[in-house]
Amino acid sequence: MIKLVTLDLWDTLVTDSKSNERKRDLLRTDFIIRTLNLMEDYKAKILDYFEELVESFKHPGEENEWALLPETQLLHLFKEIDACPDVEQFKKILTFYTGCILDKLPVLTEEGVPEVLKTLKEKYKLALISNTGRTPGKVLRRLLKKLGILDYFDMLIFSDEVKMRKPEPKIFLIACEAFHVLSEETVHVGDSMLIDFNGALSAKVNPVLYLPNGNPPATPFVKSLFELKDSMGKYYDKN
Ligand SMILES: [Mg+2]
Repeated sequence: MIKLVTLDLWDTLVTDSKSNERKRDLLRTDFIIRTLNLMEDYKAKILDYFEELVESFKHPGEENEWALLPETQLLHLFKEIDACPDVEQFKKILTFYTGCILDKLPVLTEEGVPEVLKTLKEKYKLALISNTGRTPGKVLRRLLKKLGILDYFDMLIFSDEVKMRKPEPKIFLIACEAFHVLSEETVHVGDSMLIDFNGALSAKVNPVLYLPNGNPPATPFVKSLFELKDSMGKYYDKN
């Protein structure tokens, strides 16, 4: 019997256009250049760094441990471009870097996300498990609140706060332990085959792949979150 459903955040519940993220990167870059009085030719270097950073988010591992926290992402950047901000400058940059998502919000992947969460919550405990990038859990809570989905969750697990990232098996078991639920009584839903589906499997949690477009590489999958309850019933929650 399934008792707990954990959900991924990015591209499962919430999504953002590439152009939005690019705009934010330009704003972050300009802010860093202004705050540190750097020459304009640093702009390309910083933007290149952001592109590499986004790639490293897709393959979390020991080799890019520095990408786990916004603070260490910035320290890594400053080392690469040979910049030495003082404590005040660093704080100012960090605040802008982590908070600028709130000025132009991402959107829900499907209009009915709140309705889906409400229905799931009637039957299951709900937890969010999110690998964070430039925006930490502290800011993501405010974002979830603004999008109207914060209160559906019994627990929020952000990688920057628990200092581990999916697909590490341990991160999938935090909510199980908190609610005294077995991994086999848990379903994890997410859009990434590597990070969500295989990660959940490695923790013996039942995976469901969220795949709105394209050919499914694995089963079970759903093309809409509205299919989730039926899919879970068919594959995992038979009673
Ligand atoms: Mg995702």
